[in-house]
Amino acid sequence: MAYDFDLFVIGAGSGGVRAARFAAGFGAKVAVAESRYLGGTCVNVGCVPKKLLVYGAHVADELEQARGFGWSLEEGHFDWGTLIANKDREIQRLNGIYRKLLVDSGVTLLQGHARITGANEVEVEGQRYSAERILIAVGGWPQVPDIPGKELAITSNEAFYLKQLPRRMLVVGGGYIAVEFAGIFQGLGSATTLLYRGDLFLRGFDGSVREHLKEELEKRGLDLQFNSDIRRIEKLDDGSLKATLKDGGELITDCVFYATGRRPMLDDLGLEHTGVELDERGFIKVDEHYQTTESSILAIGDVIGRVQLTPVALAEGMAVARRLFKPEQFRPVDYQNIPTAVFSQPPIGTVGLTEEQARDNGHSVKIFESRFRPMKLTLTDIQEKTLMKLVVDADNDRVLGCHMVGPDAGEIIQGLGVALKAGATKQQFDETIGVHPTSAEEFVTLRTPTR
Ligand code: FAD
Ligand code: NDP
Repeated sequence: MAYDFDLFVIGAGSGGVRAARFAAGFGAKVAVAESRYLGGTCVNVGCVPKKLLVYGAHVADELEQARGFGWSLEEGHFDWGTLIANKDREIQRLNGIYRKLLVDSGVTLLQGHARITGANEVEVEGQRYSAERILIAVGGWPQVPDIPGKELAITSNEAFYLKQLPRRMLVVGGGYIAVEFAGIFQGLGSATTLLYRGDLFLRGFDGSVREHLKEELEKRGLDLQFNSDIRRIEKLDDGSLKATLKDGGELITDCVFYATGRRPMLDDLGLEHTGVELDERGFIKVDEHYQTTESSILAIGDVIGRVQLTPVALAEGMAVARRLFKPEQFRPVDYQNIPTAVFSQPPIGTVGLTEEQARDNGHSVKIFESRFRPMKLTLTDIQEKTLMKLVVDADNDRVLGCHMVGPDAGEIIQGLGVALKAGATKQQFDETIGVHPTSAEEFVTLRTPTR
């Protein structure tokens, strides 16, 4: 049977654009439908605008440090409206680049909501298209627990478009988004509280990293409230918000920001017309080739709920395009040792196993850990410390994990990701010449195990 397209991609986000462009480049006839914004979450309401806001917040640190280097500056004034307008302009530029990338690679771009109407059929704006294969790359959406007053709260989607910088901000959650945005708002001048239901935020990260970040954020004056959760939110007469906590306590704030995870964006996708099944968490179930339980339909990225990171969605998109249309170049995605950064202030960079995971996996481990005041701060009054940590397999000397909290952690950890992928040993770290004077050199000069 002749189909309109070889591949119909739903969602022009990180994974969808990558799969569509490369499939078209390999000679396939490809369409991509996008209902909201080209580039998806990462470009519009994720990684990119978030990093721009992190840079904006970091300027406050630079200004504070400047005095130690002899600069006297007049009292600074921050204008939220300017930052948001400049951010919006940059996002628009990127949207244009994504459009050009798709069109130039020969992909048919359809603007509108796509609904699957059969195993080989998709409807966009009343028009039906047939396709040999459908790729679902619809990403995720913020998830807010069902509490009274939840409509008064915002999520990351709205945080990027607030009209004003709130004077007081209450961030709920203990994952990437909560920690990053608490740092952004605190850095830009909002009196910020971070409320997390567990003992310590960033569950799943290395214990030393979590403790270290907690101490550093407290030094910066962030109000951290752990083992705490909101029962309900109400609007007061003066426009402020009252959050009543489960233990009966109350917090008055100007904005409640929920960062409590993301669900798959399956709204009106039409999965009921297919044999696509969901897993126990509600994400689309796929095999190792991103094949769903309907043979003509594949799924990648956040909607499969494996690792919700842009470079992972890109890698999955590439793997699908290659396997279907250039099998001689196919390589499976390697989910081991994925480097990642949390753009908190100070940031976290991490790759490989945490100390806890290494022990749980049965490794006998040597831990090398160092805490020091970065050289840049020695001429200032700032007492921030950097943490660096290596988890090493005591039996074969392989470095199992590298963890850092401190300036440029994300930049530094990328290179260590290559070392771990190559299977580097602690001896090879030791034999690597350092770059002096940097913080990064500490990773190759950690001589004595701390435990
Ligand atoms: P998405 O990028 O979400 O793209 C899905 C697209 O599908 C969207 O454009 C959506 O509009 C469209 N769509 C949905 N349903 C339909 C439909 N029915 N019809 C047509 N179109 C549809 N990751 C990092 O690696 N680093 C970071 O620093 C980082 N920061 C983040 C910060 C925030 C605030 C958030 C929310 C996420 C962040 N992420 C980060 C995660 C990253 O954005 C996602 O992992 C990534 O975007 C997933 O790509 P995707 O292709 O699966 O989906
Ligand atoms: P995460 O899954 O990282 O964190 C969710 C947080 O919310 C956890 O602390 C969780 O607690 C808490 N939580 C979940 N449900 C509830 C509830 N009902 N009540 C109270 N607290 C709750 O999700 P995020 O929203 O922070 O981010 C989504 C994903 O996006 C991340 O996992 C990451 O993959 C990606 N991302 C990546 C970034 C980066 O690379 N720098 C930046 C931002 C996002 P508990 O731990 O107890 O379950």
